[in-house]
Amino acid sequence: RFITLEGIEGAGKSTQAAVVCDLLTEQGRDLVRTREPGGTEMAERIRTLLLDPAHQGMSAEAELLLLFAARAEHLARTIRPALAAGRWVVCDRFTDATYAYQGGGRGLDSAVIGCLEKLVQGSLRPDLTLLLDLPVAVGLARTRGRAALDRIETENEEFFDRVREHYRQRARLEPARIRLIDAGADLTAVTGSVRRVLSEYLAC
Ligand code: C5P
Repeated sequence: RFITLEGIEGAGKSTQAAVVCDLLTEQGRDLVRTREPGGTEMAERIRTLLLDPAHQGMSAEAELLLLFAARAEHLARTIRPALAAGRWVVCDRFTDATYAYQGGGRGLDSAVIGCLEKLVQGSLRPDLTLLLDLPVAVGLARTRGRAALDRIETENEEFFDRVREHYRQRARLEPARIRLIDAGADLTAVTGSVRRVLSEYLAC
């Protein structure tokens, strides 16, 4: 099974990815934890390129293609082999992020994103996606406390409003796969929601 976590900056994806992995491990599932952009040596190098604040003026098209180049490697070397071996894959961000950031945030055509998705993934989609949703101002206040911001974290609030809205729209379109979680609540409550949604999923 393939589980992804999504959300805007400061949503707490890494913390909740650890919660997901702990619960799966408690249940004796063999898992691989990974992230996007990244997850292989080459894809991590693409991530460095993508997030380097020196590339501030990168075109949206280059950004999109680099993300899918990284994803193609990630799928070929990490995700597909793990799934084929019967392992669970827990991934911090995947293609929903591309629809939200490059489609919603940058304004690229989602039909074009859909073509690349088909090329790179075929019919592979996550089985379950946890969308950690919270107001943009709350998320940004959390990340702005961090030491160094990456190239995308320096975008303005309107950009992230569009990203959040696209994520929420996707959750409305695919409610069975994309489960919306209130990530603006305190950590204990968010962790509780994540554990509950995942336990429900594992029970069916
Ligand atoms: O999840 P994480 O914060 O590690 O993501 C790294 C950066 O990549 C974030 O700033 C995120 O906004 C950006 N990103 C993006 N488009 C994607 C995936 C990630 O702009 N499709």
